[in-house]
Amino acid sequence: MSSGFWMMNRYVTSAFFSFLLVFQLVTYTPLTLFPTSVPKAVFLQALAVQTHYNTLVDRISQDSDFLKEALASTIEVDDFTARLFRIYQQILKEGRSQSIVLGLNRSDYMLDQRDDGTSSLKQIEINTIAACFGGLSSRTPDVHRHVLKVAGRLEESQHILDNNPAAGLAQGIAKAWELYGSERAVIVFLVEENPEIFDHRYVEKELWKRNIRSIRRRFDDCFMFLHFNLTHLAGTKKVQQVLARPGVLEKFFPDQPQAVELIRATFAGLYTLDMGPEGDKTVAMALAEPDRFVLKPQREGGGNNIYGSEICQVLEAVKDSTERTAYILMDKIHPAPVHNYLLRRDAPLKMSTCLSELGVFGAYVRRGEDMVMNECVGHLLRTKSSEHSDGGVAAGVAVLDNPLLI
Ligand code: ADP
Ligand code: MG
Ligand code: MG
Repeated sequence: MSSGFWMMNRYVTSAFFSFLLVFQLVTYTPLTLFPTSVPKAVFLQALAVQTHYNTLVDRISQDSDFLKEALASTIEVDDFTARLFRIYQQILKEGRSQSIVLGLNRSDYMLDQRDDGTSSLKQIEINTIAACFGGLSSRTPDVHRHVLKVAGRLEESQHILDNNPAAGLAQGIAKAWELYGSERAVIVFLVEENPEIFDHRYVEKELWKRNIRSIRRRFDDCFMFLHFNLTHLAGTKKVQQVLARPGVLEKFFPDQPQAVELIRATFAGLYTLDMGPEGDKTVAMALAEPDRFVLKPQREGGGNNIYGSEICQVLEAVKDSTERTAYILMDKIHPAPVHNYLLRRDAPLKMSTCLSELGVFGAYVRRGEDMVMNECVGHLLRTKSSEHSDGGVAAGVAVLDNPLLI
């Protein structure tokens, strides 16, 4: 490492520490010291496919027959998905599906390293109703530009892109609000016990700019009054696996082979564990080479996936029962590891071998049959130490980062 690096490193850490000493209650968002190189072509590919992913999520959420069939085996054994499905059916029965639909999605990718040294974009999952870190990630580009300048890497500092997902997400919310047609209508942020208030503030601020009021309520305090549209089922891992089957994407894009091609190019290998010969083949494949795969239950929030020898333990226990259908199997993606410093308040500063995950935000609004907005509204790069196979920023494993396009 150059002496410039150490000076800058000392500068950043001492600035942080004095900050913390003076304002005991103030801390910073965990982030990498340096931005991470991302090939420009792959980055642009991820942005280009986002509006098609928005359309896909929207079309799936309206196709109850597809969801019923795709999730049939899973809801028999997975209570969480079964309960979500019951809510979805109830909504259909009550005929409450709104004519104005707002979708905020984030599609997550890792760059799988090929033998020839290039990398290919592979989707990890899609998250529906996903706005997390859309605000804070609009501030980190300036931090990394500054760090690069202090380190004497002026030219590179110009390759850090502006990013403002909060503005685009708020634009979608504002559009839906406007179509709703009541100036008295307020936007409600449904939050859990310890919400990421500072992240939400950015979206709130964008709404206030448009004179739209927002309030924050705990889910438990208002679930009695909520009407859902539940696009959530479209983002389950089981649906992701079913979409990778031959001919399924074509059903959702009958006249758009290019959209099918762009989406399919981002799919990693995904395998069913349904009962039957195909599922049996998946079990045998996973038991023979567990390190090639990730075993995924239908859960969100990081920390639920199963890797390596544990895949064998779990599959040996469930392989002859329908319990195995609660999982899907996925090819493990191998991004090229890079070295970086993960800056966080609760850990000593040390260089780590790191892996990154690129998220792309999309927002859409549909009224009846008309898509009135469908946009890619920003990105989110998160980086974690390679010793953790799983877990996001909220779980305290990954930190925020920025792509340095190369
Ligand atoms: P969740 O909904 O819990 O975020 P993910 O599918 O995103 O579930 O998995 C959580 C984490 O596990 C990801 O952020 C990534 O770090 C890791 N992961 C998931 N799938 C793969 C994969 N196929 N290859 C490598 N790592 C993966
Ligand atoms: Mg998820
Ligand atoms: Mg995830």
